[in-house]
Amino acid sequence: MLTLTHRYRIYPSAVQEHQFIEWMEICRGAYNYALREIKDWCLGRKCLVDRCSLEKEYILPADLKFPGEVYQLNNLPEAKKSFPKLGEVPSQVLQQAIKQLHVGWKYFQRIGFGFPRFKKFGQFKSLLFPQFKKNPVTNLHLNLPKIGAIPINLHRPIPIGFAVKQVRILRKADRWYASISLQCDVSIPDPTPHGHPIGVDVGLEKFLVTSDGVQSKPPKFFKSLQSELKLLQRRLARLQRRSKNYEKQRLKVARLHHKIDNTRKDFHFKQAHALCDGGDMVFMEDLDYRTSAKGMFGKHMLDASFGQFRTIVKYVCWKRGKFFSEVDARGTSQLCPECGGEVKKDLSVRVHDCPHCGYKTDRDIAAGQNIRNRGIELISTLGHSGTQTACADDLPGTGKNQSRQVSKPRKGVTRKSKM
Ligand SMILES: [Zn+2]
Repeated sequence: MLTLTHRYRIYPSAVQEHQFIEWMEICRGAYNYALREIKDWCLGRKCLVDRCSLEKEYILPADLKFPGEVYQLNNLPEAKKSFPKLGEVPSQVLQQAIKQLHVGWKYFQRIGFGFPRFKKFGQFKSLLFPQFKKNPVTNLHLNLPKIGAIPINLHRPIPIGFAVKQVRILRKADRWYASISLQCDVSIPDPTPHGHPIGVDVGLEKFLVTSDGVQSKPPKFFKSLQSELKLLQRRLARLQRRSKNYEKQRLKVARLHHKIDNTRKDFHFKQAHALCDGGDMVFMEDLDYRTSAKGMFGKHMLDASFGQFRTIVKYVCWKRGKFFSEVDARGTSQLCPECGGEVKKDLSVRVHDCPHCGYKTDRDIAAGQNIRNRGIELISTLGHSGTQTACADDLPGTGKNQSRQVSKPRKGVTRKSKM
């Protein structure tokens, strides 16, 4: 099963826009009500059974069942009788709001932190239409239940053989988007390691440096627009909350944030494609960039948003049939890529000069080469056990041959294109 998500801009009319916003508010209400039920149940378990309700507020019957997902979903039709407004929203969309809460709740149960929170006015920003009987997308319009046709900018066609499974309506600043999940009934094997390897080191001084010596400048989207944002935000802070002027100003700030976000994402995609043009295997560090975002260069780390970049590289590699893997990040800048000896240097030293073997290169390129070496090590150990089990599991002679057939022609193509 192959699933892709495409995001298209949609242009709802003023009436439709109003209706969307109202639906979001109704869904938010249902979400908050369901969360209140869960919270009451939890608090009810905390208080002692023999105390009266004056001392402890939440006394619920001890044998009351936990308000689970199915229970709350089954309660919706009943609730619609007492709150007719709930009936305005398509029922499946409303159900998704409850399901969304329980996704959050299960996550909290598994991880142990992140109790779901109440959503304030305007914090419910999307609606999910989970099922369609027939294709809702035509060339010019998106057809949704209870709201009708919305003009859509189908800037790229829906690929042949794919069916529309879900549509999520999103609001970003004053723009509306539809995230369309597409599914196709084919199974595609994950890309196998092959061809030219690239190690990628990311950093603030240069956005990325590869083991081949390719460098790209740091973009600093946020920094360039920060003064503008500062001005807008200061104006916003001086306005009466919830007034008309406040709302106008708030939109300006939101639009600027949206613009920064878009330019950054565009840059990341272009860089990722450039990496895939240069090689067949991409390796990156498995760093958790959130810790460094708390440090002195926090703002710049967040501006570059390396975490998002890695996710995008992973996706682009998958889409273009290139192999992607993360490698251990420890000490990549302190080792010599040629002889493996340790070369201690602090951040101010920009040149790698090995006293053991005399290898001299840029500091970041050395780090990239270390990452590449680790990646090759990783796949040589992984690949060994991988092919063996594949052979043992599958029908004899199918698994191994197929992977070879796939990887060989690709090698030829990339070599030709380079010439
Ligand atoms: Zn060396």
